[in-house]
Amino acid sequence: MSSLDPATSASLDARCALHPDTVATAACQRCGTFACHLCLQWARDGRRYCGACAERALPPLASREDRFLANLVDSFVVFVPFIAGLVMLALTSEPTDEEFVSFGFVLFGLLGSLVLCLVQLYLSGQNGQSLGKRWRHIRVVRMDGSHVSLARIIFLRNLLPSFLNQVLCVFGLADAICIFRDDRRCIHDYLADTQVIQVPEHERGGTPSYRG
Ligand SMILES: [Zn+2]
Ligand SMILES: [Zn+2]
Repeated sequence: MSSLDPATSASLDARCALHPDTVATAACQRCGTFACHLCLQWARDGRRYCGACAERALPPLASREDRFLANLVDSFVVFVPFIAGLVMLALTSEPTDEEFVSFGFVLFGLLGSLVLCLVQLYLSGQNGQSLGKRWRHIRVVRMDGSHVSLARIIFLRNLLPSFLNQVLCVFGLADAICIFRDDRRCIHDYLADTQVIQVPEHERGGTPSYRG
């Protein structure tokens, strides 16, 4: 009556780490701990984990509203200095003004926007939280709950989808619509093997927040 998983089968006399009286069904595919049928859980990445690992692999998903708002802020925030530079230029451009003053405003705007781009990259690489995601307390992680590298965020989550959107103009729309799937993963999440989760309350301390 063995129902052992061939890929991760526990030996016949292995016992569950939490329930020593119960025969293990399989080993956790994350930590390798033997677990019984009560402890094993299927995670969103299609693997089976013990209770502790499932908790890490199954954090609550970010809401669609939070993802939308974060995306809105991220799409806009890097342009703020550039727009501010143009506004200052418009407000002060009298015929008597020196040309280098106008140049200064544009340069200020461009540099400011560049700095914000770098800040966005730095924050995303640190903990998967751009400014918008930080604000909404959400984070990009790999499907097993682990840290997502900056290279993965840049190439698979941003550049590849942008490229596909240039080639197939409906890609962007299809990508966005996938947020309404049950797992709330867009196509760019599938390309990068990522998901967007809510940051647990206890991990939010010390992170900048725009709330209040
Ligand atoms: Zn485990
Ligand atoms: Zn158990």
